[in-house]
Amino acid sequence: MESPVDSAVRLLSASDYAVALTGAGISTDSGIPDFRSPGGLWNTFPAIFGDYHSFLTNPEQVLELGRVLLPLLFSAVPNEGHKAMKKLEDLDILQAIITQNIDGLHQMAGSKTVVEIHGTYKTATCLGCKRAFTLPELLPLSSSSLICPDCLGIVKPDVVMFGEPLPEEAFSQAVALTEQADLMIVAGSSLEVIPASHLVTMASRNKVPLIFINKSQTALDKLADIILRETISECLPHLVALVRKEVIPCESQ
Ligand SMILES: [Zn+2]
Repeated sequence: MESPVDSAVRLLSASDYAVALTGAGISTDSGIPDFRSPGGLWNTFPAIFGDYHSFLTNPEQVLELGRVLLPLLFSAVPNEGHKAMKKLEDLDILQAIITQNIDGLHQMAGSKTVVEIHGTYKTATCLGCKRAFTLPELLPLSSSSLICPDCLGIVKPDVVMFGEPLPEEAFSQAVALTEQADLMIVAGSSLEVIPASHLVTMASRNKVPLIFINKSQTALDKLADIILRETISECLPHLVALVRKEVIPCESQ
């Protein structure tokens, strides 16, 4: 019988429009804490710190979270998992990454098409006048408060908070990519957050094969064709090396 790894290699080698959905689990090996796992960030900070309505009444609370998270984000570099995704793109198998992460590590690894459905920590927007802020512009503000110098409105990091709708453009791009996919790799997401999980349900409805790489169970394991309960930064490079041998056979001789 074919092993799960062999099946994954076979599916990946045959794909020319694979789409990946990545979550916190791909970045934990880069030193960025997971939110939901035991010991994750939401164990330290009550979830209200990431709540949109609570942010509107008390914007300063996000600074407390920022003081813990920003140094980690600044020092993080892509790990072997991010690099393997980039290699899969170079093989013309992976066409896009839809990510729930805000850390920018896929882009830092060189991946070209990255759709950030939960936003990014690298920019912010004034809720009053809609002025866009880059991180260097935001940092001086964030030492004390998040007040827009132009209109005194609240400046909100472009990270999607609980109770806030997803960025429309990014999500419709994610839907379009999912509609086009001939294979979906779900790496490091517990799939507990909607509507990210809807993308997986949609792919499954379209009969798109699903490969899950996640250390623990996910909310949608029953939909997966292949489940690899492994560390992404170890498992994915191994898979990609095998796929590479399969699609560029001369190279291995
Ligand atoms: Zn403003």
